[in-house]
Amino acid sequence: MAMVNTAASSYTVGTKTRYTLNLDNVIIFPDNANIPVHPPDEDENWLIITELLSNPAPRPGGHGFLVKDQKGDRFPVIFNTPTAARDVKAYKTGRLVCLLNGSIRDFMPQRGFIVKDRKTAFMLPCNLATLRRLSLRLRGQSERGEFGQCCNVCKKRDALRSCRCKTRYCGLECQRADWSKGHSQECKILKALISWNRIDWWD
Ligand SMILES: [Zn+2]
Ligand SMILES: [Zn+2]
Repeated sequence: MAMVNTAASSYTVGTKTRYTLNLDNVIIFPDNANIPVHPPDEDENWLIITELLSNPAPRPGGHGFLVKDQKGDRFPVIFNTPTAARDVKAYKTGRLVCLLNGSIRDFMPQRGFIVKDRKTAFMLPCNLATLRRLSLRLRGQSERGEFGQCCNVCKKRDALRSCRCKTRYCGLECQRADWSKGHSQECKILKALISWNRIDWWD
């Protein structure tokens, strides 16, 4: 795929101490207009990040909801899985649904997506604005040489304590303070972003 190779040349996989993830990279995180029309090759992966505009409801072909992509385009996502009603239970208005390697061939009856395997979709408990804000915060930490190295609270270097999301702390005291100050709301989202940073999307 020539298009993918061109973009790949300007894409750097992050490391433990460098956060390079760019949610505006439409090859990795395509909006509706940039979703590949072909199924993924073995070495290509992408993630369509959308925000739910409606709660799940029975729809033709399964259970689903309306979403908007990162550019604001709206389209339906339908779970056509054996346990569709159960699979979409946690998907609520204002949360994110991420679709792994979704292809445009999945559309019907209008432009939209059919999820056939529930493992290819997952929910994050925040909206698009929060996801983008947290990603920019990690970029800033990386640019200041703090990412993966400094305590998230007191900025002390060589912080060895690691949360499950890989956020660093100098010790339990700072970690507890951060948790009650709001990290409890952000941990799951940061965990996703920090793990996406390490993925070689075109390995
Ligand atoms: Zn600290
Ligand atoms: Zn955490």
